[in-house]
Amino acid sequence: MTRLVLKPGRERSLLRRHPWIFTGAVERLEGRAAAGETVEVASFDGTPLAVASYSPVSQIAARVWSFDLEVVPDADSIRSRLERALELRRRLGRDEGARGAERLVNAESDGLPGVVVDRYAHVLVCQFLSAGAERWRKAIVEQLVALLAPVTVYERSDVDVRQKEGLEPRAGLLWGAEPAEQVEIAEGSCRFLVDVRTGHKTGFYLDQRENRLALRAYARGKDVLNCFSYTGAFAMHALLDGASHVTGIDSSGTALRTGSEQARLNGIDAGAFEQIEGDVFHVLRRFRDARRSFDVIVLDPPKFAESKAQVERAARGYKDINLLAFKLLRPGGVLFTFSCSGAIASDLFQKIVADAAVDARVDARILAHLRQAPDHPVALRFPEGLYLKGMICVT
Ligand code: SAH
Repeated sequence: MTRLVLKPGRERSLLRRHPWIFTGAVERLEGRAAAGETVEVASFDGTPLAVASYSPVSQIAARVWSFDLEVVPDADSIRSRLERALELRRRLGRDEGARGAERLVNAESDGLPGVVVDRYAHVLVCQFLSAGAERWRKAIVEQLVALLAPVTVYERSDVDVRQKEGLEPRAGLLWGAEPAEQVEIAEGSCRFLVDVRTGHKTGFYLDQRENRLALRAYARGKDVLNCFSYTGAFAMHALLDGASHVTGIDSSGTALRTGSEQARLNGIDAGAFEQIEGDVFHVLRRFRDARRSFDVIVLDPPKFAESKAQVERAARGYKDINLLAFKLLRPGGVLFTFSCSGAIASDLFQKIVADAAVDARVDARILAHLRQAPDHPVALRFPEGLYLKGMICVT
């Protein structure tokens, strides 16, 4: 096996079982390795440390498959990692069964670096995000088919991060029948329509599930503003739990059209659900100038910071929308506010929201801290896996 030898002292993160080896830590490659090939990682003094998948162009030169040198990526070890991931999902106690939707494999945190698998009823959607994941795509799909007998396995590796690995974007059918244009799923008492071909991510924001369910407790009889609403998943939960009115704002007309279809599917009274196609930054200012107010506001923006270099600019964006939201909240109002930027740590996000409250002159309290759903687990040895954080605040 080709050996990747580290610089002196650079084995430290591996000894803490962190799965990434950055190019800056690499002394030399002894032998040749193609993209995704398995290499042995050794410290500068030659001690073998791990088995990893090599990526020749990425800043992450290798991703560890195992710290047990006997365990290499192959059909057997892929199968046992998938089984462990599926076992965890079975234990999460969800009750939607065959109509349910969930993240089955959450990459590094499930021991399958660069591999994401989401399930929408009988349709599996995969993303292969690293050279190692790409190398093993066929074996992964075969094992998924053997373990889960899905109707469809579809690929949505049409994402920018693949470029960093020297991989082209890819999307399309991997196995089985072409998926329906809209795959119907259940989430709690709601029904949703998911377009796995062209929807965001793999089609839906599964990571917000528990937070959408949490909104229901605050919705009854309330006038709700759902910012960055996508297909209106927060809105549907609020309306089915008795919200008097929900206004959704999103810049994607396609997402809003699905939102209208979903409202009909869930038997929502047309007069109770309004959607605005526009830029949240502008619409909130317009609402402020028109002195509009709401009982409950949800802020679930896209990732403002792609990297550490963008944190400052992103922080200004988060502060801006949170400040506007606090101004639009009625006294005693509730704010659900989120950041899905991995580069913005929880405590920084809390400070940004605190600054926004000060500038808006409201005295807000935190009722709960929120995070990504439990089917998006975070390996303790891989804190980078935590990206979605949020708070419920009351004024
Ligand atoms: N809350 C949603 C997910 C939101 S994802 C859910 O639970 O399903 C972020 C959304 O913000 C996307 O739908 C995207 O179209 C939208 N978006 C991005 N920038 C925007 C902007 N400046 N104004 C309005 N919508 C925006």
